[in-house]
Amino acid sequence: MRLRIVYDNEAKEGLESDWGFSCLIEAEKKILFDTGASGDILSHNMQRLGIRREDIEIIVLSHDHWDHIGGLDAVLHPDVAVYVPSSFTRGTKGGIEKKAKAVVEVSGPADIVPGVHTTGELGIGIKEQSLVLETKGGRSVVVLTGCAHPGLENILEAGKVFGELYGAIGGFHGFGKLERLEELKMIAPCHCTVHKEEIMRMYPEKAVRCGAGEIIEI
Ligand SMILES: [Zn+2]
Ligand SMILES: [Zn+2]
Repeated sequence: MRLRIVYDNEAKEGLESDWGFSCLIEAEKKILFDTGASGDILSHNMQRLGIRREDIEIIVLSHDHWDHIGGLDAVLHPDVAVYVPSSFTRGTKGGIEKKAKAVVEVSGPADIVPGVHTTGELGIGIKEQSLVLETKGGRSVVVLTGCAHPGLENILEAGKVFGELYGAIGGFHGFGKLERLEELKMIAPCHCTVHKEEIMRMYPEKAVRCGAGEIIEI
C-alpha cells in the first residue's frame, strides 16, 4: 500500500506547507485521511501530486479540529463516503451529509476496506480515531494518526488489536516517552509532533522525514 503525505507543516519543493495534516492512502480504494486546514492549499498540493478529487472514494476524519477538517469542502463530492467519529456534532455531520454519498459514524474498532482499519474513537477529552494499515502480506501494521490527542501510547495499543506493530506515521502531539518508539521499525513524525527533531536524531535509521509530497510504501 502506498501513502502520500498531501498536507503537512513541512513540504517538499513545489508544494505548500501549512499547519495541518492530510495523507492519501492507496489501498483497494483511495482514502484521504484528514484534509488539512485550508481547502486552497489542499487543492494546490493535490493538483501538484496529480490527485483528483473525484478519485477519492473515502475520506476519514480523525477529529473535529480545523487543521484536520478545514479543507473538507474542497474534496467533498457526491460519490464519497466520509468516516467521522460519532462524537462529531449533529450540525457537522448534517453539513457533510448534504455534499457526500454517506456519513459513516465510527465508535469502536472497525474495518474500512481490506487492510485498512480504524481504532475507533479514543480519548476522553478530544475524541479521535486513527487508522491501522496492514503492511504487505498483512503480518504487521502501521498506525496513522491525526494529532494523537488520546496519547500515542494508547493509539499504538489500539493498533495492536489488528497485528504486530511495524510503524507509526502522523502527528504525535506532545508524546515524550521516546524510548517507547524503540519497538517500531519505521517512524514518521509529522504535523504537530513536539519532539520531532529529537525523534529524528534518536532514530536516524528508521525515522522518515515527513512533509507534503513524501511517499511512504508499506
Ligand atoms: Zn492537528
Ligand atoms: Zn487536534
